Amino acid sequence: METETGKGHFIEAIIREDIKNHKNNGRVATRFPPEPNGYLHIGHAKSICLNFGMAGKFRGKCNLRFDDSNPAKEKQVYIDSIQSTVTWLGFEFGTPYYASDYFDRLYEFALELIQKGKAYVCSLAPEEIREYRGTLTEPGKNSPYRDRSVEENLDLFARMKAGEFEEGKHTLRAKIDMASPNINLRDPIIYRVKKASHPRTGTKWCIYPMYDFTHSLSDALEGITHSLCSLEFEDHRPLYDWILDVLDTPCHPQQIEFARLNINYTVLSKRKLQKLVEEGHVDGWDDPRLPTLEGIRRRGYTPEAIRNFCDLIGVSKKDSRVDMGLLESCLRDDLNERAPRAMAVLKPLKLTIENYPQGLTETLEAANHPQKEEMGKRPLTFSREIFIEQDDFMEDPPKKFFRLGPGREVRLRYAYLVTCKEVVKDETGRVTELICTYDPATKGGNTPDGRKVKGTLHWVNAQDCLEADVRLYDRLFKDENPEQDKQDFIENLNPASLEELKGCRLEKSLDEALPEKVYQFERLGYFCLDSKAGARPVFNRTVTLKDSWAKLSG
Ligand code: ATP
Ligand code: MG
Repeated sequence: METETGKGHFIEAIIREDIKNHKNNGRVATRFPPEPNGYLHIGHAKSICLNFGMAGKFRGKCNLRFDDSNPAKEKQVYIDSIQSTVTWLGFEFGTPYYASDYFDRLYEFALELIQKGKAYVCSLAPEEIREYRGTLTEPGKNSPYRDRSVEENLDLFARMKAGEFEEGKHTLRAKIDMASPNINLRDPIIYRVKKASHPRTGTKWCIYPMYDFTHSLSDALEGITHSLCSLEFEDHRPLYDWILDVLDTPCHPQQIEFARLNINYTVLSKRKLQKLVEEGHVDGWDDPRLPTLEGIRRRGYTPEAIRNFCDLIGVSKKDSRVDMGLLESCLRDDLNERAPRAMAVLKPLKLTIENYPQGLTETLEAANHPQKEEMGKRPLTFSREIFIEQDDFMEDPPKKFFRLGPGREVRLRYAYLVTCKEVVKDETGRVTELICTYDPATKGGNTPDGRKVKGTLHWVNAQDCLEADVRLYDRLFKDENPEQDKQDFIENLNPASLEELKGCRLEKSLDEALPEKVYQFERLGYFCLDSKAGARPVFNRTVTLKDSWAKLSG
């Protein structure tokens, strides 16, 4: 999880320097502050790895804090999912923090601002507030309510809290500078009336603090030293600092911005992911094609692969788009080490060995990993009838086809050499069965006479194999940058992002498969049992063995 190159990225360099200078007494405290209004995606993983990574590296702490100050969109299911996802990624956060736990103290801070003449109750209607705010090129205008007395402000604010006013009637605004070139400093709203019940505080409050106010003060209350956030908050930093300068807070954390993660062939925004889910383009938030962490977890991604990916992409101030191929190659590297091998036939073709004794079943042995003896071996049964892949047979094969054809000999992995003697077809001319012979002297795949047999096929024993459905996933979007065009990004969906195969055959040992445990199906790719499968097993393709998209574009 560590960057081995020199001093690491620019944030790491800042933290090192701060420690050297005994800033914050050498202490490091970070936080990951999701709003619980949706599920986490791989972009959040970047922030999680960065915040927990820095705390881990410098023996500091990292808080998981729910930024739950907007009750309208926040739900307990998201809170639960976020916690389990952070844990799954391999990070420990102890007890989570909630911005809503600070509502009383935030209210006190608002009173302090009013008393210091730095906040006022504004009674402009929402559209008037917008109008008065000005634009990027024109300064704003002062609200006519800007000079209310402290007493009047305290009275109105108390009545806002008491529920006397409807939503939108009054707001509490910081008194900063309506002519500031930075719009965030044009008397931003810090409290609004919202008559909504909150998942944690119920109906205790009918005013809720706004993001910037909540966020800066929550950081300060938790003693955060480095508040790491994505670049879009750069323009908010002056407000973050203004709030902490004006108020008497325990400390003043340093906000540092970094570039968000973007990945090609997908979208990383809760709003867009929500549209995909709500319009039914995917099968829920944990659809294995989505970049949500719940989705890629169901697909078979490992936390190690994700952490390694986040480490490789690094942290910088420059926005960029990372190739999906990089994420997939991190996954392949990890799975190649970790995944036990197994055999499965996705499109079965029956193969009968006519000279193999009727009723005999042999038990062969197969290594679970070709390079890792410690992963052990498993028994593999073999008998007269097996299944091979339809694609591994051609009736009229070209020269370079090293698989099975009439009269040709191939090796069956871990078993024997077989030669195709006869092709059985149905009335439509479709090949339904191959009749072969085997050479009993070739057990284990060896040729005692040294004859060369190039092709090796995977197979399963017809007698005891499992029947399963297999889902082949591909990229969700056919366009490298789905958001590029002005039209709806939905139009760029890849119509072939899911192929469902029925009646696949798997070797018997896979009846012990568990969700999230990934196998390499030899010659086919990496697969794992779907966590939502019912009585009939369903396997998801986690990733292919090779990057087929690289070939297409290269
Ligand atoms: P979205 O835009 O997808 O809705 P968000 O920024 O609203 O995401 P939050 O719940 O506010 O989501 O995010 C929590 C933290 O995760 C924030 O600090 C945010 O900067 C960070 N984060 C969100 N998306 C990314 C991303 N793509 N890359 C890096 N960090 C991200
Ligand atoms: Mg947000």
